[in-house]
Amino acid sequence: MAVPRSRVSNQRKNSRRAHHAKKPKMATACSNCASPRLSHRVCPSCGYYNNRLVVKKEET
Ligand SMILES: [Zn+2]
Repeated sequence: MAVPRSRVSNQRKNSRRAHHAKKPKMATACSNCASPRLSHRVCPSCGYYNNRLVVKKEET
């Protein structure tokens, strides 16, 4: 079994984990339909990426 050389204090542990919080996702408006869209992702509502139709929206 691995034995730690020195015990990390609660303060040191919590200070290290102070930077572990999740950042909010960046959302931008679609250039085609202006709906919120994640950057570097195909638009979920119209299927456009880089001002071009890449994913055809299926008819339901
Ligand atoms: Zn769109």
